[in-house]
Amino acid sequence: MAGGFAGARSELELIREIRQGFPAEVRGGCEVRLGIGDDCAILRTRRGWETVVTTDLTLEGRHFRRDLHPAVSVGHRCLARGLSDIAAMGAEPVAAFLSLGLPAASLRTAASRSWVAGFFRGLQALAQRYRVPLAGGDTGQVVGSEIIADIILIGQAPRGKALRRSGARAGDGIYVTGTLGGAAAELRDLMDGCLGRATGREPAGSRPQSFPEPRLELGRALRLRGDITSCMDLSDGLSTDLHHLCEASGVGAELRTASLPLHKLAFERADRLELALHGGEDYELLFTSAAALPKRLRGIAITRIGDVVKPRRGRPVVQMLDEAGARSELKPRGWEHFRR
Ligand SMILES: [Mg+2]
Repeated sequence: MAGGFAGARSELELIREIRQGFPAEVRGGCEVRLGIGDDCAILRTRRGWETVVTTDLTLEGRHFRRDLHPAVSVGHRCLARGLSDIAAMGAEPVAAFLSLGLPAASLRTAASRSWVAGFFRGLQALAQRYRVPLAGGDTGQVVGSEIIADIILIGQAPRGKALRRSGARAGDGIYVTGTLGGAAAELRDLMDGCLGRATGREPAGSRPQSFPEPRLELGRALRLRGDITSCMDLSDGLSTDLHHLCEASGVGAELRTASLPLHKLAFERADRLELALHGGEDYELLFTSAAALPKRLRGIAITRIGDVVKPRRGRPVVQMLDEAGARSELKPRGWEHFRR
C-alpha cells in the first residue's frame, strides 16, 4: 500500500498527476530511499535519532465543508494538521503518506476532478514549503458522498530529545505561540456569510481556519533550547488541550484570561474569550518552561498566559483568573466543528 496509490485505471491517472505535482527533490527527501511506486516506501533513519509518527483523519462534514473550504484549503489543512503534531514534538518531518477515500463521482465529472486537483495543489504547496515528500498512500471509492482523507506523518528527533506533554512542573510558566481564537472566528464568519471563502493568496496568518500555519521551525527551536519542560499543539482548543497537558504532567494550571493573545478576527467579537479558550484548530504550540523566554522566537510571538501549579488532591485542576481577578475552574470544552 505505502508506495502504491494503485488500483482502478482512473486512480492510476490520478497518481500520475500526483507524482508530477511533486518535484523530484520533494518527492525523495534525503531520508526517503524509495517513495511512491513500489509496494512500500523505504525510509532511512539518521544515526542517533528516533522516529515519531502521527496520523490525522480529515472527514467531510466534520473537519471541512466543501461550501466553506475550497479544495486547496482542505489539502493544506490535511497536511498542516499532521505537521503541527510533528512541530509539537520539536521533530523534523521526514515523509507524508496520504490515503484518500473519494465518492464514486469524484473521478468522473470535471468539477470533481478539479476538486481533487485543488486538494493536491494545497497539500503540495505546503509540502514544498517544508520540504516534506509525499512518499506513498492509497486511494479508494467510498460508498457515501463524503470525502475522507487520512494523513500519516513520519518525523524524527534526536534520541530522547522529542518534546512531550508530560514534563510540566509547578512553577513553570505556560506559554502559547501566535494568537488564539482566529480559526474558530473565521469559521463563524464563513458560516454567517460575512467572509468569503479563502483563496490561499491572502496575507500569511490572516485566514487561520482555511490556511493554518504549522509551527515547525518554532517547535524545532524550542527543542534545541533544552529548557522546555512540556509541549503540545492546540488542535482541540486551549481548554481541552491544557487539560491534556496537565493530566499528562500530573499538575494543575492557573490561566490569566487577560493575557490570552487574540487573533484579529476574534478580537472585536463579543464571544472572543469563548473562541480563544474553546475554539480549536489554531495549531499554535502550548508549552511550559521555568526559563524566562523572549517575546518572539523565529519571528513568532510567544506569550506567557499563566503558571503551572500543584495538582489539587491529585486532580489536575485548571483555574482561570479573569480581568477583575475573579477565579473560576476552567472545564475542558473544546470546539465542536460546525456547532451553532
Ligand atoms: Mg496534536
